[in-house]
Amino acid sequence: MPKYGPEDSKRSPRFTGIRTYARLPHVSGSLSDTDVAVLGIPFDTGATFRVGARFGPERIRSASALIRPYHTASAISPFDYLSVVDYGDIAVVPGYIEESQVRIRAGLQQILEQRVIPISMGGDHSISLPELRAIAAAYGPVGLIDFDAHSDTSDEYFGQPYTHGTPFYHAIREGLIDPSRAIQIGLRGPVYSKRDYEIPVELGMEVITAAEVHGLGIAETARRVRARAGVGPVFLTFDIDFVDPAFAPGTGTPEVGGFTTWESQALVRELHGIRFVGFDVVEVLPDYDVAETTSLLAANLIFEFLTLLACSVRGQR
Ligand code: MN
Ligand code: MN
Repeated sequence: MPKYGPEDSKRSPRFTGIRTYARLPHVSGSLSDTDVAVLGIPFDTGATFRVGARFGPERIRSASALIRPYHTASAISPFDYLSVVDYGDIAVVPGYIEESQVRIRAGLQQILEQRVIPISMGGDHSISLPELRAIAAAYGPVGLIDFDAHSDTSDEYFGQPYTHGTPFYHAIREGLIDPSRAIQIGLRGPVYSKRDYEIPVELGMEVITAAEVHGLGIAETARRVRARAGVGPVFLTFDIDFVDPAFAPGTGTPEVGGFTTWESQALVRELHGIRFVGFDVVEVLPDYDVAETTSLLAANLIFEFLTLLACSVRGQR
């Protein structure tokens, strides 16, 4: 049996105890006999509009008390195959993005050095750049699967290189992502100009806009994502604003015309056979959340990630 797993909510009520992701043990430092570390990166200085995503991790943890261990659709209990911990939060420096990038990268590196897969809870999307710096240092340039209403490939905002609107521009320029295995799904909304859609393609990525996903359907979109991701290591980033604000209102830059909770689950669920080396869920902003729908979805998306990892472990046995 894996060393670390969740509390049994049929033995102790799920509303008891100190909140960790899915009632997992909080373990920091040495991660022996650990496969996956869920961690918080409570940083929102990269936000260009609403702030408050620094409180995303605590609310995702709170909502995750409802996660039960068995994944019905995939007929697997991920915790039978994976030893999973809540690694706590990285001590970022509010207001100081470059210092925080150093700390985020170092925090991820500590996890990766122990051959553990990180699943990060943001935080705004600027955290993906230092995450990718750590990931690429461990694996070389990785494939990218990016669910987002926005491409986040501007070179700068307000004359500054690092915001939540720029991480993938810099990640590609720094050679952290292999653009031939990178795909962005869900782009939509009014943008500054048609350049917003040209830049990610010029950087070498594939783009499937929200309108295209609505036309293609979930299964065909997932097929394209799997084909693009290929066989090498892949980082999956899920900006919660991929989801329509009707379902995920608690976010910093909402865009109408997005996807339902079910479509989001189904899309992630179909990404089998990919060699994932890291994940994040970003842009959960509790102040604008209603009835915990956004944080509950984020908690469930992380459970989908764990299930994907467990299914690949099961496949190897
Ligand atoms: Mn984003
Ligand atoms: Mn976005």
